[in-house]
Amino acid sequence: MVAIAGSDDPDRCLLLAAHLDTHALGDGWTADPLGGDGFRDGRLVGRGSTDIKGAAAAMAVAFAQAVRRGLPAGVRLLFAGNADEETGGLHGWQAVLDEWDERPHAAVVAEPSGVDDPWEALYVGARGGTRFTLHASGEGTHSSLAGRPGVDSALERIDAALAALRALPLCRDHDPRWGPRGRLTVVRCEGGDGWGRVPAAARAEVEIRLAPGAEQVEVEAEVLRAVAGSDATLEWAPGGLRWIGPSAVPEEHPLVAAGAAAWRAALGSDPVLACFPGGTDARLLQDAGIPSLIAGPGALRRAHHPDEYVTADELHDAVRLYSTLLDQLLDER
Ligand SMILES: [Zn+2]
Repeated sequence: MVAIAGSDDPDRCLLLAAHLDTHALGDGWTADPLGGDGFRDGRLVGRGSTDIKGAAAAMAVAFAQAVRRGLPAGVRLLFAGNADEETGGLHGWQAVLDEWDERPHAAVVAEPSGVDDPWEALYVGARGGTRFTLHASGEGTHSSLAGRPGVDSALERIDAALAALRALPLCRDHDPRWGPRGRLTVVRCEGGDGWGRVPAAARAEVEIRLAPGAEQVEVEAEVLRAVAGSDATLEWAPGGLRWIGPSAVPEEHPLVAAGAAAWRAALGSDPVLACFPGGTDARLLQDAGIPSLIAGPGALRRAHHPDEYVTADELHDAVRLYSTLLDQLLDER
């Protein structure tokens, strides 16, 4: 879904982008996740409220306000609500960018501006990640025989492969600006038949979240080298889940200064410039040459979580931030 306003032959084109897809519902909701019951005690509860339909609404308001105030000559303004952000973006922004004749000069991508609290940081980059499954087999026999030659546990082989991965420079080094270069997490582990039997088969689904600067070819080579020295095999995750590239706007880019000025004007504080912990559509836009800031109401900890919510105050702040940022970027000419 795209709304377009302003010049057909722009010398400046700005994009506000929010994804409209949401994460799976999950259990534990005390309010109807799809009910749209309105605000309770200043909170709007519902799936996608903080990730990231609240921001989509705030962007739509900021877009309409800017158009109503009148866009300067030569300015084109786009607001896009896209799909497939939560599952890699190949069928979302990537598909759009492959065929799009719009080429925005800058973008604001909606994601919560905080992990625990709203407005913790202005995200000028986003971590990416790589995903894969480790498989191992063992000798499924009487567990009293474990440790004898040739009697190996599939789960212990997985464990050894994980230890080799955690020992990689990728998972140990720190980047001076972004912190840990890579963080390995086992998101699912299966294997074994229970008491008395050496596990004959096991698998672990693994993610390594990556700071800006990581390159697919190098990361995959490092990972494969670590696993090759173990008794496990590796299967990359399908499609766009295999590699989500990290991204960052260079610190000296005018978009960063405009974002910081808008943040000060709209929220009354100096922003901490940081890297969003998860993957976002910003990387796809950045890869297409569109520098992108990441900002939005709410907090990441509430997302993908029962009783996800956003507050009315956060939504008002978000409208003010997007509006001020648009003004900053439009004045910049
Ligand atoms: Zn999101």
